[in-house]
Amino acid sequence: MKKFLKGALAASTILAGSVGALAADITIIHAGELLAKPGEAPKKNQTVVVEGGRVKEVRSGFANASDFGEGTKVVDLKDSFVMPGLMDMHVHIQMELGPNNDSEKLRLSKADVGMQSVGFARKTLMAGFTSVRDLGNEFTHLYALRDATAKGWVHGPRIIGGRMIAATGGHGDIDGMRHDLLEKYTSNTICDGADDCMKAVRKAVKYGADVIKITATGGVLSDTNTGTAQQMTDDEMKVIMDTAHGLGRKVAAHAHAAGGINAALRAGVDSIEHGTYADDESIRLFKENGAYMVPTLLAGETVVRMAKSGAIKSPDIRAKALRVGADLIENFAKVSKAGVKIAYGTDSGVSRHGTNAEEAVLMHQAGMKPMDILVTATVNAADLANMSDSLGTLEAGKYADIIATDGSPLKDIKELLDVDFVMKDGKVYKNK
Ligand SMILES: [Zn+2]
Repeated sequence: MKKFLKGALAASTILAGSVGALAADITIIHAGELLAKPGEAPKKNQTVVVEGGRVKEVRSGFANASDFGEGTKVVDLKDSFVMPGLMDMHVHIQMELGPNNDSEKLRLSKADVGMQSVGFARKTLMAGFTSVRDLGNEFTHLYALRDATAKGWVHGPRIIGGRMIAATGGHGDIDGMRHDLLEKYTSNTICDGADDCMKAVRKAVKYGADVIKITATGGVLSDTNTGTAQQMTDDEMKVIMDTAHGLGRKVAAHAHAAGGINAALRAGVDSIEHGTYADDESIRLFKENGAYMVPTLLAGETVVRMAKSGAIKSPDIRAKALRVGADLIENFAKVSKAGVKIAYGTDSGVSRHGTNAEEAVLMHQAGMKPMDILVTATVNAADLANMSDSLGTLEAGKYADIIATDGSPLKDIKELLDVDFVMKDGKVYKNK
């Protein structure tokens, strides 16, 4: 065994050496305006040098290709605004709400769902979102999609794969079906009581979860009249956080009501998703434990629109959608102004995949400045994802995940709705 490992190591060292010798694997990007580090002012006329999928350096002025050896490729973005790829910390890439969801539940096989998600992943990448955190559905296909995009088998964003853990009858458990089907489809990520929840986290990590998602409170799209109050107990949440953290995983908590938000924050959660009814105590706890809020305003807007248009048939869901969707957007302004750290997240899957940038427009309408919004989708998201050493800014050594727009989103945030250039891992996926 040891011998084999040594051999494998030697082989990979040789391979790395030969790749280094190919100096021609360099792309230089001429950026008319470059926001290398969101939060700091952009600079005019810059060159980003990309080698082996990573940023090699950033230079002032437009460097000559000949400086980097024969075969150096040049990407001309002299008339564009260039910045790090956008990161969405809350998506569900295996689903998309629509009028046929009920029949699709019965018609689509798991393989169908897997194939459908390939298309959703592609749309997401083409919209300029080069990294996403998927907070869970069917995990084997999610992890397969994550690994397939990493290997380049399919075109999609870098995926941080989450596994959802919920309480029996709570948000995330199966609902809205007759009893025998409820039995059949009950997910194995349901847990009740501290020991059971500890085991659920351990199992999630065993099978490949990068992050744990819990449903601390009820949710809008559960077809139950259980409201949006705390559903997991304090003890359950505490053991989930401790177990996950011990295994090197962060925890994201879906939470609407203040009681559930605050209980999750006290238990040591890393991010609160939605955070609809965050109160003054929540704001204090957010700051105390350094957790992020992931607002998902787009989900709020989407469910309100669907409820008003009659697209939501269940009276229980419709009532919650109208109330919670509107409150979510309204409360965000208060929380962000209070200085709570925000990481960008849409809940795409509720909204259509590929429209992820609409969240930025809603954040702007809620009073957030464009630069602060770009920070949430880059620097902050990278921090929440535990990937600040490789994502979030364009600096030497980081992944070459780079996008460009015609105009500056700092002047008009709607520029993000039309991303013209997408590079991930140094490979160009879109250049129009
Ligand atoms: Zn979600």
